[in-house]
Amino acid sequence: MVSLTQFINKIKPRHKHRVITMGYAVAIVFAFVLSLSNNNDVNASVSTTDRTDYLLLENTISEGFDEPETLYPTERILNIKSLFDMVSSYQREKEIEKMLTVEKGDTFISMLTAEGISYEDAHEIYTAFKKIYDPAKIRIGQKFLLRGTYDNKLKKIISIDSIILQANNIERFILEKDENGKYAARGEKEELIAEVNSATGAISGSLSQSMNKQGVPNKIVSEFIKIFSYSVDFRRDVRKGDKFEVIFENNITKEGKIASYGDILYAGLILRNDKVSLYRFKDSKGNVDYYTDKGYAMKKTLHRKPLAFQNARISSPFGKRKHPILKRWIVHWGVDYAAPQGTKIFAGGDGVVQVAKYNGSYGNYVKIRHNSEYSTAYGHMWKIAKGIRPGTRVKQGQVIGYVGSTGRSTGPHLHYEVVQNGKRVNPTKIKASTGNNLAGKELKNFKKMVADIKGSYSKMFAAKSDTKIAKK
Ligand SMILES: [Zn+2]
Repeated sequence: MVSLTQFINKIKPRHKHRVITMGYAVAIVFAFVLSLSNNNDVNASVSTTDRTDYLLLENTISEGFDEPETLYPTERILNIKSLFDMVSSYQREKEIEKMLTVEKGDTFISMLTAEGISYEDAHEIYTAFKKIYDPAKIRIGQKFLLRGTYDNKLKKIISIDSIILQANNIERFILEKDENGKYAARGEKEELIAEVNSATGAISGSLSQSMNKQGVPNKIVSEFIKIFSYSVDFRRDVRKGDKFEVIFENNITKEGKIASYGDILYAGLILRNDKVSLYRFKDSKGNVDYYTDKGYAMKKTLHRKPLAFQNARISSPFGKRKHPILKRWIVHWGVDYAAPQGTKIFAGGDGVVQVAKYNGSYGNYVKIRHNSEYSTAYGHMWKIAKGIRPGTRVKQGQVIGYVGSTGRSTGPHLHYEVVQNGKRVNPTKIKASTGNNLAGKELKNFKKMVADIKGSYSKMFAAKSDTKIAKK
């Protein structure tokens, strides 16, 4: 298969150099000087008295003027119309190759007609091409190679033998004239190989800088951040010395060139003493999502009812209400779920504990920051769970406390608040999750895949972390 570069190389003028005798050259120069006195069209800058111009002219002639091999005659020669006319009897049509680059405002047909092709021919070519590739889709900067016949007298391409259009890194379309003079188009596609890459490193400065430093391309970096954006707030949670791990695919050509970046198969963040791992998984329905190694979906929204007792009823809704103790209308900034004392309270989502203390009318109170957008708060707890203190990283569903009636409360219940961008919103109106946790056979398949990846990355990252990270 021939690459685009090889095509470009082919265009280099062939050097079938023909030696011109000095006498012939002098004769042409003389003829040219004569023509200047008769023809006002000749570019005025070509002075007959300027010695430099003479030298340039002689050089041009001695480099093969009688049969120019290059498709791009120098500007000077183009300007010397009459001289061309005089020697036109020595020139015929010739086969040429020309690379065209799509510029702003170009259409496939306008590019062909600009080279001298008749509109009818251009249209025929367009129609033949369209059977496999619509030339209306050409983009600025795209290249295609023309092979055809150039008329040196008319100074244009008068017929086309073939066009090779490089559609992208791996695909090109070839249009050729067959024996009957009809155009036929075909496509050639290079098969890509998925290559698995891994990278790991300590984070210092920005995450993207740290990842770039280990050779992770920007497209993979932004994908990595997107994958974690549901559970990690990069600005607050990620600190100097934390580590990243990533396994991703490149789609490479047979020559080993990267044609496109593939998917992230595994993404890991090691935050101080905590590790967040996410794995890409395609379920039997074809849905792709990222999951923790236990099969929890990444794209989970906050729990609407973060309690072990899922039958708990709403004893007081979000919004305006008459306060049971204060006996006046006030806004209730959360939802109250009535539940027996001691019922487990779960973290509504992955995050970091911000507050865990007795907090006035809230009683025993925990506040968790999930990401830059969401926080949740839990009031009237009987007890705060062991280990829950400011800075503790929690997972969705982890027990953070137990239902009680501490603070301003009339009976055991959970007061649950969801804060979105600094404003308290109705927890029951949070949009349903787009991702579902894996279960049953899906979970079994997923766990097998995770085991495979873990098996290979322990090798990949062990070697790398020894040199890159462990030395700190
Ligand atoms: Zn309440």
